[in-house]
Order: sequence, then C-alpha cells, then structure tokens
Amino acid sequence: MEIGGLNSVSLSDYPGHIASVVFVQGCNFQCIFCHNGFLIPRDVSHNLLNPEKEVFEFLERRRSQLGGVVVSGGEPTTQPDLLRFLKKVKTMGFLLKLDTNGSRPKVLRNLIENKLVDYIAMDIKASLIRYHEFSRASYSDIKLIEDSINLIASSGICHEFRTTYIPSMMSSWDVELIKELVPPGSKHHFQKFYPEHALVPWLRKRRKI
Ligand code: SF4
Repeated sequence: MEIGGLNSVSLSDYPGHIASVVFVQGCNFQCIFCHNGFLIPRDVSHNLLNPEKEVFEFLERRRSQLGGVVVSGGEPTTQPDLLRFLKKVKTMGFLLKLDTNGSRPKVLRNLIENKLVDYIAMDIKASLIRYHEFSRASYSDIKLIEDSINLIASSGICHEFRTTYIPSMMSSWDVELIKELVPPGSKHHFQKFYPEHALVPWLRKRRKI
C-alpha cells in the first residue's frame, strides 16, 4: 500500500483508544478545505513515502502499548491492496478504524463483510447539491455518497459522520441539508475549519460574508 505518513501515537483519532494513524498516499477528491494536500497526489517520489515494512515493524514494537490503528488519508478505499493491508493489521490483534470520503461503497461493503473494520468515520463534505463545489470530486463518485452513508449506518459497526463547517461558505440551509443526509441513530458532528491549512489559497484568508 502507498503510505504517505505515520502518526505514531494519537489520543484523539480513535475514540476511547490510543492509536497509531497510517496515512495513505493518494485521494480521488480535492476538497477545497483539505489540510492534507500533500497526500492527494498519487504519483510522488517514493522516497517521500513510508515503506509498508517500516510501518509494520513499528506496529510490532508498539503492539502492547497501542489499542488501535487508524487508516486515514488520502483516501484508503482507492488503494488496490487495502484489504490485504487491513487483514495484516487485524491479524496483529489491533482494533481498526477507517477514515473515508465514502466514494467507494463496494470497497466498504467488502471490508465490512470480511469484518476488517471496527469503526468507520465518513466525511460528508457538503449537501449533495453542493458536493462538487466542496469536494471537486467526479460526479460519478458523488453519486455513490448516499450509498456509503446508508451502508455504514446499517452495518452495525461503530461509526460517525462528520462535516468540516466553513462559516464563510455554509448557510443554515446547507447545515440542514447536510443533517438530513444522516440516518436516524447515527452520530454526526461538525468539525472546526482551519483556514490557514486549506488546499485552495483563496479560502485561507476568506472571512464570513
Ligand atoms: S477526501 Fe478531501 S479532505 Fe480527505 S484527503 Fe481527500 S481531498 Fe483531503
């Protein structure tokens, strides 16, 4: 798997657990607010990437101190060998949380059916009518967002949905439309937007209008 980074210890990425976070390299979205822009390109010089072997050696050393592993991105579900990677992590006895943009419901279904994930966090980038504006994803990917939401909500797996709230770009109407996408019984929260890290320069200084 293409691994763009590793956060060795996190107390906040996996609710209730001390976890390491593995960041995959490559994403099929280009969210305007993305603060991990360096993880979006698929083709980067390989000396920037953490070799998978190194990551597993690290996890082996910390096995007794860590409760879980978070696989984040980038977008993990675009990695062709994600299933193999997650199986290996699960075999080591870790709880596994997956962060996803929800554009690959078939991949998610496969992971759920193989019992490879213990927690899924999916971003809902915007209301569906404004999804392209915020995510700059292809329309074919956006069409699959609702499928992923419903799949995750009905999976029986711990999960949450989250939205980066951009005050300068989201009205109360947008907020209501986003909330309507969340099935009853599923957790959803709005997370703080940090303009200084936004992918698009014009958003870094923009104030509420
Ligand atoms: S889904 Fe959006 S926020 Fe997440 S890594 Fe891709 S571009 Fe960044």
